[in-house]
Amino acid sequence: MNGKITFVGAGPGAVDLITLRGAAALDEAELVVYAGSLVNEKLLERAAKAELVNSAKLSLPEVIEIMAAACRAGKRVVRLHTGDPAIYGAVSEQFRELDRLGIPYEVVPGVSSAFAAAAELKVELTMPELSQSVILTRMAGRTPVPEKEALERLAEHGATLCIYLSAGDLDGLVEKLASAGLPPETPAAVVYRASWPNQKIVRGTLNDIAGRVREAGIKRQAMIVVGRVLGRDGALSKLYDESFSTGFRAARKSDGFRGRTAIFALTAAAAHKAAEIAAGLDEAMVILPEKHAGAVHAARLVTYPEGDFAGALGRAWNEYDGLVMVMAAGIVVRHIGTLCRSKSSDPAVVVCDEAGNYAVSLLSGHLGGANRLAADVARITGGRPVVTTATDVQGVMAFDELAARRGYRIVTPGTLKRAASALLDGVPLELEMPGALYEEFYAGNPRFHLAADTPDITVKLPGGGVFRMVRRRYALGVGCRRNVPAERIEAAVSALLARYGIDWEQLVSIGTAELKREEAGLLAFAAEHGRELRFFGADELNAVEVPNPSRMAEEHVGIRSVSEAAALLAAGPGAVLVAEKAAAECVTAAIAEVKADE
Ligand code: SAH
Repeated sequence: MNGKITFVGAGPGAVDLITLRGAAALDEAELVVYAGSLVNEKLLERAAKAELVNSAKLSLPEVIEIMAAACRAGKRVVRLHTGDPAIYGAVSEQFRELDRLGIPYEVVPGVSSAFAAAAELKVELTMPELSQSVILTRMAGRTPVPEKEALERLAEHGATLCIYLSAGDLDGLVEKLASAGLPPETPAAVVYRASWPNQKIVRGTLNDIAGRVREAGIKRQAMIVVGRVLGRDGALSKLYDESFSTGFRAARKSDGFRGRTAIFALTAAAAHKAAEIAAGLDEAMVILPEKHAGAVHAARLVTYPEGDFAGALGRAWNEYDGLVMVMAAGIVVRHIGTLCRSKSSDPAVVVCDEAGNYAVSLLSGHLGGANRLAADVARITGGRPVVTTATDVQGVMAFDELAARRGYRIVTPGTLKRAASALLDGVPLELEMPGALYEEFYAGNPRFHLAADTPDITVKLPGGGVFRMVRRRYALGVGCRRNVPAERIEAAVSALLARYGIDWEQLVSIGTAELKREEAGLLAFAAEHGRELRFFGADELNAVEVPNPSRMAEEHVGIRSVSEAAALLAAGPGAVLVAEKAAAECVTAAIAEVKADE
């Protein structure tokens, strides 16, 4: 016997609301036994080579008999149910019989009509402060309902109700809900044949829904949804509350890890965890041995041949800002020893166990951002970040962490260690820094004294010498099509700055091409921010080496690159491009860091 039986949820009706797996089972099927009128017969067109049997008029033993015989004859059988088979699908008695006969089967879920109805109503069934539970139920009919699940008792919870199989007696239903204490103004909706071409939606309250449904002539094949979530005045979901943070939305963007991340995994389980982590980070690639390639979306995947882990790690070391290693810490420690160079250039390294329970910040905790990357990873996997840097353990903001988070550059790396000790050693410290930063991070500790409110940061070290950091400064290069409004430019630049964690005040200059001298939107944008707009001629721009020259622009206006070249020119000698060209809606922008004068 090589046949098999697959129970498939057909979904609510629309032919494209079946799952891919369910559709594939139909494509392959040699016998399809389907459940009467609620299954869309158009779906059966897929089962081109199958014998079709409508089960509506068959008894349970007959259905089992037909399926068992086909299966014994080596055929692939699909038992097609509406919606999801697990909800009022009468599948349990079929499972029981097949178990008894020793015939194997599998189940493919489907979109239940409650969810199809919610989609058509465009409603979230679970809304904070209104209801956090959904009750899928039916009224007692020919099939009795256990006493404790009587509608009048379930309704007492005030939870959202999705009621199946009950459109025939809406008056009785409303009466039961009222007797449970639901107010007459409770919103209710009835969706007839959700997702079918002849779908009908009736909205109302418990007060009037029965009459409206009667008028619409609906008696069956309808989903009844009752609950306050149907009102449009519900409390906004906390998900959209700025201060509420989920795995995918960090509470404060600038305090998360910023940069490109490579995620390594060696086993199949770890590869799946890596895919989960990658999906929650901004710019992440997953680097896997070829045999696990299937675990990850191709667009995020880099593979290496079996046995070349060390080689792949070595390449990633130089290419990425952060590495997340989903494997034992020992493997990582043994491999990165020879790769480590310096605090200022090594990537952040975070080790995560394959269950995602712990995210250990292993290397470059502050400047490299590993502590923040560990926090991000733990938020995504629901695990705990493990951080061992002393300042964090003592709850003091380390200077190199402050530099990484707020855009400072350390100009005296030689005294960083002494500055860090001074923070931890319990001695009084004189700080020169912006007052607001002092208030945010150091004012709470009486050892730290604000000696002067300055834009840059200087720490007088006990025993002589200073530690100094300066705010990084940047120049923006912009290009745009003719007549692009200032708001468009504003939006594109804001997005780019946010992506690189740069404040407007760090932008000291803006550059563009000479031929944009009369471009009103661009002029207004620069004026709005009080920045001088600097214009560079084609020859000047073309003399600058850029990573992303555009052949189109060269053909049209004789300039190979506006944004990248103008950013570099505006930033002056020694400038470094930090944000390569980003293009959005007829605007291109790039950012270069100013390196002169230091
Ligand atoms: N297993 C199915 C339910 C079968 S019971 C599912 O998961 O959806 C049949 C009941 O489901 C109907 O009485 C009706 O209440 C509901 N139903 C099924 N398809 C529907 C549709 N397209 N629109 C509205 N209700 C539907």
